[in-house]
Amino acid sequence: MNNSLPTTIVIFGASGDLTQRKLIPSLFSLYRKDRLPEKFKILGFAGSKYNDESFRQHLREGLDKFASFEFDETKWQAFAKNIHYQSGDYQEPGAFQTFHDFLRKWEDGPANRLFYMAIPPHLFPSVIEKLGATGQTEENAGWRRVVIEKPFGTDLASAKALNEEVHRTLQESQIYRIDHYLGKETVQNILMFRFANTIFEPLWNRNYIDHVQITVAEEVGVGHRAGYYDGVGVLRDMFQNHLMQLLTLTAMEPPASFNANALRNEKVKVLSSIEPIRGEAVAYNTVRGQYKGYCDEPEVAENSTTATFAVVRFLIDNWRWQGVPFYLRSGKNLADKCTQVIIQFKQPPHQMFPIESGTRMTPNALVLFLQPDEGMHLRFEAKVPDTVAKMRSVDMEFHYADEFGPMSIPEAYERLLLDALQGDAALFTRADEVEMAWSLIDPILTNWETDQDPPLALYEPGTWGPDEASALLAKDGRHWMHEEAGHMLET
Ligand code: NDP
Repeated sequence: MNNSLPTTIVIFGASGDLTQRKLIPSLFSLYRKDRLPEKFKILGFAGSKYNDESFRQHLREGLDKFASFEFDETKWQAFAKNIHYQSGDYQEPGAFQTFHDFLRKWEDGPANRLFYMAIPPHLFPSVIEKLGATGQTEENAGWRRVVIEKPFGTDLASAKALNEEVHRTLQESQIYRIDHYLGKETVQNILMFRFANTIFEPLWNRNYIDHVQITVAEEVGVGHRAGYYDGVGVLRDMFQNHLMQLLTLTAMEPPASFNANALRNEKVKVLSSIEPIRGEAVAYNTVRGQYKGYCDEPEVAENSTTATFAVVRFLIDNWRWQGVPFYLRSGKNLADKCTQVIIQFKQPPHQMFPIESGTRMTPNALVLFLQPDEGMHLRFEAKVPDTVAKMRSVDMEFHYADEFGPMSIPEAYERLLLDALQGDAALFTRADEVEMAWSLIDPILTNWETDQDPPLALYEPGTWGPDEASALLAKDGRHWMHEEAGHMLET
């Protein structure tokens, strides 16, 4: 494919929140770093009636609010002159033909095209179908790629249907399904950590690892997203995508190379090794919770049973992980905002040091801290000086900000946009991967929606969820861990 051609980035949903909050700040940041193609144009297409000038002003205001880098007026002026806006209604007959006629004239010659679907999910199929019907996705001279935002389906059936619909117009190689978690440096660092170092690999299995805890906790409630969130809930919003991504990266076998297919094949293998949790097993292996006061939030249905908190215990039935539970936990209105993966190692096989009765030795743990304070901690036991054999847990720590400086971590969308422009799909989800993840979440959702077991447990805002979350681990003789200010706490 011809990468030396000019590139057009077409944003559907250009007047919306995502474009102003993430896409334009990320594209501008890439421009500042000289990473965009030499000749590029950005064309926004949405319903609102902007002209080029007012649209650029709207995007400029977004930079003030959302960009994490210092604004440079000269660079912005140079960047902004490449931005253009077209208004129109996607549903209107002929809108896409008019749009395509304009696009061809504006491009003035062969060009590569990246179409970004920053639109409500129900519009993904029809917009892609119309792009195809008007010949805009045909790869004649330049490449044609389509980025599809999340959520990709609301269950297995709808994800399959959506895959079928987009495959009628596009080859799988043209499709870039976003899960912005994969654009995060710290998430990619799980791969570096595991596969660019040798010291942990021999330990990374059921012989040495007792269990794994993956937590994505939010301190805030549903806020302005209540209308969207109610009826969606935590399993669809967080588990099917972000938590399953963290699980697959933690559990996958080393891919033969760092290319999209090799990487995604290994992720799919992990997902296909997990036995779906169905029927009565759902009550044993899951917890569903809702924070007190959720039903009083604006736009939330009275007596809503939407879960704002969940725990799921997955087992991976393969050689490496047999018998090692992966406890996944996520919720809103919790005690802290954090994303972390805790690898809890086994206790030493023989206890030779005296410990006080009623206490236990603290096992080693490795914490991959994805946010905030991105980094990692390794907890081990050390002798307390001037005692006979007293031990205390201590942490060896690495923090990105200390090592690489506070501005070293770019916005996830920046990396993903660059990869899509360069045709690298490694950090995007493949059709089978997205369906496989749904096939694990779907039976739990079905059970929750049709059965009262496990019951919806209410929890106080600002806590770590309902008591049932601790009880689920206690059944296995374990407890939740949480790393805070350099100390591992039980929660
Ligand atoms: P918004 O509701 O803010 O924006 C929707 C955009 O779609 C607007 O530009 C709107 O144009 C346009 N649009 C909708 N219908 C039509 C139509 N018939 N004709 C023309 N334009 C239309 O949504 P967001 O930006 O928040 O989200 C976009 C996508 O990104 C969604 O799929 C969402 O799930 C996903 N996403 C968003 C995140 C965020 O932070 N916002 C985070 C993660 C994912 P107009 O209003 O001008 O008519």
